[in-house]
Amino acid sequence: MGLLEMNDLTIQIEETTIVQSFSASLGAGETLYLMGPNGSGKSSTALALMGYPGYKATGQVLLEGHNLLDLSPDKRAQAGLFLSLQHPPVVKGVTVMTLLKNAYQALGGSGSILDFQKTLFSESDRLGVSRDFLRRNVNDGFSGGEKKRLELLQLAVLQPKVAILDEPDSGLDVDGIQLLATELARLQKECGMSFIVITHYNHLLPAL
Ligand code: ADP
Ligand code: MG
Repeated sequence: MGLLEMNDLTIQIEETTIVQSFSASLGAGETLYLMGPNGSGKSSTALALMGYPGYKATGQVLLEGHNLLDLSPDKRAQAGLFLSLQHPPVVKGVTVMTLLKNAYQALGGSGSILDFQKTLFSESDRLGVSRDFLRRNVNDGFSGGEKKRLELLQLAVLQPKVAILDEPDSGLDVDGIQLLATELARLQKECGMSFIVITHYNHLLPAL
């Protein structure tokens, strides 16, 4: 059995069926690609897996035996699921540092604040994220590339078991795509992370 098992997943939004009977399995350290035309239900699948309000999901989604569909979004995150949105929202009044610290603690990060800070700074240095960036409000005035960098920083610091990435390559230049591909491959190899990648292109395929 895979790490994540999706059986007969059907998603409805306000009585409209958006996705019908989707089944797939994902093992530890594996990548599942969701590709398809605009409007085919890729983002809806990502949101429903994370438990977005108003999205009715039926069927079965098991992550290490936990039935995710019975859980609230925060409990799904604690079970090891992470969603990187296609268009991450601006959160004024919350700095990148505060977001990461609170998320780390809410997910049961066992280390002290000093351990957290050490991890945060070393991961930031590796991704080329400055200390100033960590003090900015979440996504407030961020360029497309900076938004994606914050998503990568969250992955590196929070270490989910399964990360759903909704078009992580959209709006990135060649260097940005290179960094993304290298980082995802590293997280997969070193941490055994699994990915569900929604994309229109195959430029991440060679790395994963
Ligand atoms: P994709 O990510 O593959 O481009 P989406 O999951 O965003 O596709 O959309 C799939 C379908 O669901 C589209 O027809 C879209 O109009 C519809 N849809 C998405 N969100 C809602 C919503 N909140 N209410 C009603 N329909 C929606
Ligand atoms: Mg989409």
